[in-house]
Amino acid sequence: MFVYMDHTATTPTSPEVFAAMTPYFSEVFGNPSSVYSFSRKSRAAIDKARSQVASALNADPSEIFFTGSGTEADNWALKGTLEKAKLAGKNHLITTSIEHHAILHTAEYLHKLHGVEVTYLPVDSEGRVSVDDVRNAITDKTALVSVMFANNEVGTIEPVAEIGALCRERKIPFHTDAVQAAAHLNIDVKAMNIDMLSMSAHKMYGPKGVGALYLRKGLRPENFVHGGAQEKGRRASTENLAGIVGFGEAMEILKGRLEEDKAINSARRDRLIAGILERIPHAKLNGAQGEERLPNNINFSFIGVEGETLLLDLDAKGISASTGSACSSESLDPSHVLLALGLKHEMAHGSLRFTIGRLTTDEQIDYVLEVLPEIVARRRAMSPLWEDYTKSLGE
Ligand code: PLP
Repeated sequence: MFVYMDHTATTPTSPEVFAAMTPYFSEVFGNPSSVYSFSRKSRAAIDKARSQVASALNADPSEIFFTGSGTEADNWALKGTLEKAKLAGKNHLITTSIEHHAILHTAEYLHKLHGVEVTYLPVDSEGRVSVDDVRNAITDKTALVSVMFANNEVGTIEPVAEIGALCRERKIPFHTDAVQAAAHLNIDVKAMNIDMLSMSAHKMYGPKGVGALYLRKGLRPENFVHGGAQEKGRRASTENLAGIVGFGEAMEILKGRLEEDKAINSARRDRLIAGILERIPHAKLNGAQGEERLPNNINFSFIGVEGETLLLDLDAKGISASTGSACSSESLDPSHVLLALGLKHEMAHGSLRFTIGRLTTDEQIDYVLEVLPEIVARRRAMSPLWEDYTKSLGE
């Protein structure tokens, strides 16, 4: 059986989205910036996609700017805001220690090359940022607060609306990386006082290589990609026409089935979590529970076993999972997110993430529950760490 349980790393482009994109490669291929009527079809398709994305967020179409990825949207929000704020004498960025590397590495760059002071807020043992910590970190030099909407490794949903209200009151721009959250949660940028929001199409059954930054009307961070006058002069380069069409379509479809998907995914998520806790001794669920967790995220640590080893064993049984962020899979360092949650190195190394989605079936959940306990038990039987651990418990 082939079981794909890594929907947080990426999702397949859905057949409907693929069909909507197809004409925009070889039939309707005109450059959206050209003036002849043939190209106006391309322009119209981009306008439609912009409205589809805007409407899903309760934004105005003029507030949506397409980018090459979620990573680019994050880079733009942070660099564009901090580089401009520097001119006004503000050089302080507040973010969290559990952000995706698209934020963390950008913050490091801003610190090293632009002297930006960065505050990395801690999180509690379930991965939640405290609104009071945000409040206490704000100074008269603060140019931006950037807190992710939901974490990609453990699925914890952050108190974004409260942080938005606080930042609005203090007149500090608030950015949120909603690359994962936008695929599962209802987002209303106005009601939540969000000034900037990053998204990515390939996490929501759209194509890879296209993202968007929502920029509230009136906000003008410095451009990140300089060049031509595309995207109203804010993001240069010829538009990824088919990709943008696919993003719009994916977002509209997603919005129409959001509540239904949420119910199905959370029921399966909870069954997988309960099954693992019941069948595998000393399994630790990482992250929050219920409504405070993304409906598709299951993240466990199994003391005594390396996550990487489990991945290979699962792969041999046809199951694709992850040990955390896909982007850190080439590094053997333990996850910065799990360490921030307070896990010891050996627990952070033994973590395993399943992220379910449209490809998941009930039979697949049963299959994972049948296969995983055997794998963990076999690996633990060979593990000196597990032996020490059980001895320390007197078992
Ligand atoms: N932010 C978060 C929270 C993510 O999970 C990811 C991808 O995993 C990104 C940003 C990067 O998005 P993209 O792959 O579109 O560059």
